[in-house]
Amino acid sequence: MEVANNKLLKGADLAAKLLMQVAKDAKDLKSKDVPLGIAFISIGEDPASKVYLTRKRKIAASIGIESIDCNFNENTSTEKLIYEIEELNKRKDVTGILVQLPIPKSIDSFKAINAIDPKKDVDGFTVENIGRLITKQKCLVPCTPQGCVALIKSVEQNISGAHAVIIGRSHIVGRPLSELLLQENCSVTVLHSRSKKPEEIARTADILISAVGEPKLVHEGWVKPGAIVIDVGITRAVDENGKKKLIGDVDFENVINKVKAITPVPGGVGPMTIAYLMKNTIDAAKLFI
Ligand code: NAD
Repeated sequence: MEVANNKLLKGADLAAKLLMQVAKDAKDLKSKDVPLGIAFISIGEDPASKVYLTRKRKIAASIGIESIDCNFNENTSTEKLIYEIEELNKRKDVTGILVQLPIPKSIDSFKAINAIDPKKDVDGFTVENIGRLITKQKCLVPCTPQGCVALIKSVEQNISGAHAVIIGRSHIVGRPLSELLLQENCSVTVLHSRSKKPEEIARTADILISAVGEPKLVHEGWVKPGAIVIDVGITRAVDENGKKKLIGDVDFENVINKVKAITPVPGGVGPMTIAYLMKNTIDAAKLFI
């Protein structure tokens, strides 16, 4: 389907611009002998996690950030994981630490994530960083929500007073995004699995963001004419030819004629998430200067 270029919010293009700046900052820090390294912690052999980690490592390498791989087997205990995280907290060459989600249910993910030194918490998931975000203190901000706001502002710089509807209330996307949009002076509504008449509410949004993981949940009945639509959702599927594909939450072709701008899946929010991870790693390293 032919889509007018000015409607398509290509995260890949915006992410490339951000990464150019991040690479400059990385070079500058290295010239001052500031170490730059992310420890990628993963548990087990989840195939999707492996794909994400490979991509993150590759981009880190391209801008001069070292990767430290820490893969643990499925039977690792919470205590062992916390011990290893505390060791990474002490290392000067590790300026960022990330736990690749999902992790096995046998591990207490809350305890593990909160064992990360908040100054190295490049995903921005620790209680300290979330608390600092909500109270508007300097902090490391979750990457996907930052990417969503940058995409929205690339279409409309001033979103003060706009009605933003977020579908999904997770700690990693929906909730921190609601805070960032409040800080932009939007009126924010968060919908979730128990919301009544979500379609009716979504249809009042100037900015509609879906972060659910349900393919094609959002169709034209959910979209106000002229809305900016950000599709965070990713569902892995296989097409009729047996080829792997990614599907978003938004029925792209069904809504395209109604929207002002829309992110594709893939190539929309995903690249922005990684770009902001790199930016957070630079920001984290600066905390140790
Ligand atoms: P999650 O499972 O933690 O949260 C999903 C949320 O959707 C929940 O709050 C739930 O209440 C809500 N929900 C479920 N069904 C609903 C329905 N029918 N109507 C309204 N709300 C409903 O998921 P998550 O970790 O926040 O991720 C959400 C999606 O975003 C997933 O597809 C994930 O793969 C994707 N994701 C993409 C990126 C990226 O960089 N592109 C980053 C993070 C997550």
